[in-house]
Order: sequence, then C-alpha cells, then structure tokens
Amino acid sequence: MTKGFFKEHSRSGVLKKGTDLTGRYIMLFNLSPKQKELLDLVGTLARETFVPRAEKYDREASFPFENYADLRAHNLLALCIPESEGGWGADYQTYCLVAAEMARYCVTTALTLNMHCATTMWIGSMVDNLGLPSDVQAIHAARRSAAYRRVVRDGALHAQPFSEGNQAAAGKQAFTTTATRHGDGWLINGRKIFASLSGAADYYVILATEDKPDASARDTLFLAIPKDVEGFSIVGDWDPLGMRGTVSRTLLMKNVFIPNDLQLMPSGAYHQLALRWPHMFLTLAPSYMGLCQAIYDFTIAYLRGEVPPMREKRRRQPLKQAAVAELKIMLESARALFLSAIAEAGPDPSKEARLRAYATQYTVMETCNRMAALAVRTCGGQSILRPLPLERMYRDSRCGSLMLPWTAEICIERLGRECLYELGERDD
Ligand SMILES: Cc1cc2nc3c(=O)[nH]c(=O)nc-3n(C[C@H](O)[C@H](O)[C@H](O)COP(=O)(O)OP(=O)(O)OC[C@H]3O[C@@H](n4cnc5c(N)ncnc54)[C@H](O)[C@@H]3O)c2cc1C
Repeated sequence: MTKGFFKEHSRSGVLKKGTDLTGRYIMLFNLSPKQKELLDLVGTLARETFVPRAEKYDREASFPFENYADLRAHNLLALCIPESEGGWGADYQTYCLVAAEMARYCVTTALTLNMHCATTMWIGSMVDNLGLPSDVQAIHAARRSAAYRRVVRDGALHAQPFSEGNQAAAGKQAFTTTATRHGDGWLINGRKIFASLSGAADYYVILATEDKPDASARDTLFLAIPKDVEGFSIVGDWDPLGMRGTVSRTLLMKNVFIPNDLQLMPSGAYHQLALRWPHMFLTLAPSYMGLCQAIYDFTIAYLRGEVPPMREKRRRQPLKQAAVAELKIMLESARALFLSAIAEAGPDPSKEARLRAYATQYTVMETCNRMAALAVRTCGGQSILRPLPLERMYRDSRCGSLMLPWTAEICIERLGRECLYELGERDD
C-alpha cells in the first residue's frame, strides 16, 4: 500500500512538477555535473527502493540493512571521502543537500548514514582546517587513509555513539568513558546510550576522556572500536516512539583494547573542532529538512486525491487550502535558513554565522514537528491509518530536537546568551 502511494505519487507528477529541488540547488550552489549526478542518483535510489521498505523497518524497529546494501553497491558509504581516496568527494554543502534528498524518502537511512558520513567528513577536510603540526598531520593522514580504505574496499560502516545520559554530549562536562594508554594503544572503559546503528556498524566511533591527571573536555579522544573486539557488548531493548529503524541501543566497554591506528583524530583535535567548526553539529538537520519536504509532499498528494485508497479530492475547502499555504510557508522558511546556514559553513565562522547555525537547527527540528502536526490535522483521521506514512512521519518528526549536542533547549539557551553577550563578557 505504501509502495502504491509513492508509485501513484510520482506518477501523478506531484513530486516532479512542483518540488524538484535539484534545479534550484544547481543555481544556488553552482553544482558541478558530478554533484548533480549524485543528487539524482540518491533521489532515484531512495524514492524507488527505500520508500517501499520504510514501513517494515518502522514496525519491526529493525535496521534498514537492505538500504545499506544498495548504498554500498553505489559506493555511497564513501559519499564524503575524497575522490583521490576512492570516494564521491562530497563537500559539506553537497553532503547536506544529498542527505536531505535521501531523508525525503527515508529519514531513518539518512539519519543513520549521517553518523557514518560525519565521521568520514570530520576526520577529512575539517581536521585539515585546524592547521596541526606537520608531523601530527602526517600520522593523522596515514590513519585516515586506512580508515577510508576500509570503507571503500570493505564497505565498513561507522556509528557515532557519544551520548552517556549525562551532560558530556551537551559539551558541559568531560565524557565519563575513559581511554587509558596501554602499550601501542588504548584501553577503553565506559557506557554509551542511544548508539544508532547498533548491531549494524563495523566500527563504533566513540568520544572518551584520556585517563590522566586533571583531565577535562580538552582531552577528548575520537576512537573507533571494532564491532567484534573483546570486552565490547551491545545491550538493552529498542522500542521507541519514532526513528525506530535507527536501532539505537546501549554499548558497554570493559577493558576494550584498540591499537593507536584506530585513534581517528589526533589528541586534542576533537575539542578544537567542536569550538572552531560548529557547523559539524548541524549535519543532523538535513535529515529533518528532508522530512519536512516529505510531510508537505504527502499532504499535497492526499488532498489532491492521489493517495490510494483515498481517491476523493479534498482540496476545495478554503480552510484546507489555508493550511497548505501555512505548510508551504513553514517549509520554505525552514529551507531558506537551512540553505543559507550550509552555504556559510566553514572553520572559524563569524558570530552571526554561528548564531544562524543554532537558529537553523532549532527551526528545522521544530518546524518539522509543527508541520507534521498540521498535516495530520488538515488531512484528517483516515490519513493517519497505517500503512500510510503520515503517522510515522509524525512520530519521527518529534525526535529531531532531542539530539545532543544541539537540542532545541540548548539552541535557545545559546542563542539567548550569545545574542546578548560577547565572548568573555560578564555582568558586574
Ligand atoms: C532516535 C535517536 C537516535 C539517537 N542516536 C544517537 C547516536 O547515534 N549517537 C549519540 O551519541 N546519541 C544519539 N541519540 C541520543 C541523543 O543525542 C541524546 O543524547 C539523548 O536523546 C539524550 O537523552 P536524555 O534522556 O539523557 O535527555 P537529556 O539530554 O537529559 O535531555 C532532556 C531535556 O533536557 C534538555 N537539556 C539537556 N542538556 C541541557 C543543557 N545543558 N542545557 C539546557 N537544556 C538541556 C534537553 O534539550 C531536553 O529537553 C539518539 C537519540 C534518539 C532519540
């Protein structure tokens, strides 16, 4: 049935006619033919193959393994790996556009892929921007190439479990997971919650505090734990409200040894990146930007009577038209902010660009949920019956603003403070 909806939906031309975004992106971002090819490839793949599978993953709260087989077949795990290292070479902006396009058809796949792509992107050009000493950079480049080879050659997938259920992922305290020097590597002890890709990832890239006197958040290490290593286990159930296909369970690490080569950023680099490249934390927003578009697409098709079995046209009522106008305004406002924020992403952004990034995260995450609520109210009771996708979109949309480090509350808190105070400024 869901498959039917999207088949009909694309056949009707609603997706293609009114909302083909690629042309606009080409104009705004001056996309190269390769970038356009990438957007087209991902859009087609996700629309034709991910959509029909989405309902099953949601019902079962199971990981989209089949989608990942497709991603591997198209080398898309190497989306953000430079062409010189065998990847697609997507830069930050291209990644965000591609992720949003994928999320329009399967937000779960886009969000989980983000954990992997963020890892490959952060250790790439972002670390290069830090201007590290050449000997440190050389060691990093060698380890990074090895990590990239594992992705390109073996299809290795990376999770990014940072959360511990305390204030560490919010940037307010050091991580309680520790890494202790041990021979030619590290011994890791700790616990992570909400590890998306649990049981699917080949490497779990964690943040841990180096075990040394007076350690602080500056001593955060970025370490990859192989899935089969001794002392590592995945525990707990997974039966959440939304984003069920992310399979985000709990990880336990008890004296887990990893060799130095799996330290994927030089010591101290993560802390510097978090301060100097704030847009690194904005890469969850494309997933929910795509979901905003999906909610809009569904509403239009439903009210036009193009969603089987609901063939009756429901577009004549002025109140429904007004609601659709409101949805369109929400969508375009969020997208305008999103596009402007990703266009200015880079190292050491201006204060205004940093504030805009917080505002973008807040706006995209909250708009997504507000759009879903309005779409449900406008389309009505029959629209939230399974297997139609709207009720899933509604549940998934609630989860975006929960994601640390930039939850809705943290964005509001930072925006309020940083709008009123300059760095280091205090009241007497
Ligand atoms: C579907 C899903 C997938 C996830 N995947 C991952 C993943 O792959 N990797 C990962 O690391 N994490 C992941 N997370 C976890 C997520 O990033 C958060 O860490 C988690 O939701 C925090 O849960 P908590 O109960 O500790 O809530 P808290 O963080 O305690 O939040 C509760 C409330 O307090 C607010 N709050 C928290 N800290 C502050 C603060 N300092 N200032 C002001 N307000 C604050 C929050 O905004 C929220 O309103 C995922 C979460 C979900 C829902």
